[in-house]
Amino acid sequence: MGRPEIVAARPDLAEVWTEADRNFPVRVTRSFWDRIDPSDPADPLARQVLPSPDELRGDDLDVADPVGDSRCSPLPWVVHKYPSRVLLLVTKRCHLTCRYCFRRDHRPGEHEDPSPEEWSAALDYARSSGAEEVILSGGDPLAVRDDRLLSAIDALRPSIPVIRIHTRAPITAPGRITPALVEALAARAPLWMVVHCNHVRELTPEVDRALASLVEAGVPVLNQSVLLRGVNDDAEQLALLCRALVRRRVFPYYLHHPDAVRGTAHLRLTLSEGRSIYADLRRKVSGIALPRYVIDPPDGSGKRDVG
Ligand code: SF4
Repeated sequence: MGRPEIVAARPDLAEVWTEADRNFPVRVTRSFWDRIDPSDPADPLARQVLPSPDELRGDDLDVADPVGDSRCSPLPWVVHKYPSRVLLLVTKRCHLTCRYCFRRDHRPGEHEDPSPEEWSAALDYARSSGAEEVILSGGDPLAVRDDRLLSAIDALRPSIPVIRIHTRAPITAPGRITPALVEALAARAPLWMVVHCNHVRELTPEVDRALASLVEAGVPVLNQSVLLRGVNDDAEQLALLCRALVRRRVFPYYLHHPDAVRGTAHLRLTLSEGRSIYADLRRKVSGIALPRYVIDPPDGSGKRDVG
């Protein structure tokens, strides 16, 4: 989706766009835009992806590295926080950019992907790490071509038994989940896919088809959501989402407390607000529909349950 088309529907964004885009590129897929109600400035999907004047204001609680990734990065494109798993950043590119994202050092055209040498070193590190799992993340690992993604998976095997792909593509760009990709992923089991959906309105028939094709091919799918003010800060809304995911055979895995990302104070909740919502959610859904409510602190110590 281009800026002119979006600004035509939301002229209030024209002023803020250039500066917001300079800090973190504004990018929305056609598929996601079609789920937004442009006439509603409080639309929960729009709040996730459209720039807001609020994001240009700093906050005392903002943190430059809100989950402490840089402390746990032994090599470029590698984050190693837990002994059992290594995270590889396949690319910095995404189909769509989320205004609350904690990985926002993406500048189009500037070192968006690892060089062949960097990537080879990252794969070597993962293979010799002794980790049981590798998480392919980004950016969005499905923003690269199939051959690059599949060759990374193949290069990690057999040293790494379990591979996870953390991607928002099935939700934001469901056309990316092609039959050829599903078949190739299914042939590389055990491979898990962790998607990222925050609101039940993100689940369109096209998304349902993408998720079903993965599940039916034997690729387990889990979801992580971020608790965001004005998006899903309501137990009833979260319950609708969690139940809808379970009906689609997608396990609601994590509910992340929002990170203290620069320019996202308007989207953040306090921990006590989050805990109160989570306590309500726990009363509304069954065990298999209840995600773990976690926080990932800036000291790099890794996720902690706060529910
Ligand atoms: S898809 Fe993921 S990595 Fe990309 S902007 Fe959104 S949260 Fe960040």
